[in-house]
Amino acid sequence: MTSADITFEGVKQFTKHIQRLRKKRRESVMKIRDTRQPRMSPTYDKRQSILAKTGGCCHICGGPITLEDKWQADHVFAYSQGGKESLDNYLPAHMICNNYRWHYSPEEFQWIMKLGVWFRTQIELEDHKALELTEKFMKHEVRRDARRKK
Ligand SMILES: [Zn+2]
Repeated sequence: MTSADITFEGVKQFTKHIQRLRKKRRESVMKIRDTRQPRMSPTYDKRQSILAKTGGCCHICGGPITLEDKWQADHVFAYSQGGKESLDNYLPAHMICNNYRWHYSPEEFQWIMKLGVWFRTQIELEDHKALELTEKFMKHEVRRDARRKK
């Protein structure tokens, strides 16, 4: 199953599933690690072609990107999973979107989106536990930002 369209009996079963997905991804990264082609940076001309594929939008969030913005040529089929360094495997993505997408498997990323959308709604509804976690998240973001600026 490669779709986050399944239900679980409880939190424990869901947690085990998330842990299994991570383990599976790590194993597959290790398996192909030494056979990957070397990383390359697309030339300026290629970057223009990549950006034109989406009409100048980030393929992850849909927001606008200009050639001057901080954006990356994202591997649609993840480089870490054996995705090729070729024009047909690139789409433009904001640096922040691409960094958070990381090399999660499609199912993991679907879960991340489902969880994120649900959690966002809980914040809007001012759910007590969601607000507690949000406070924790905000502190984490401050620490992360401070580390980044060092
Ligand atoms: Zn984006």
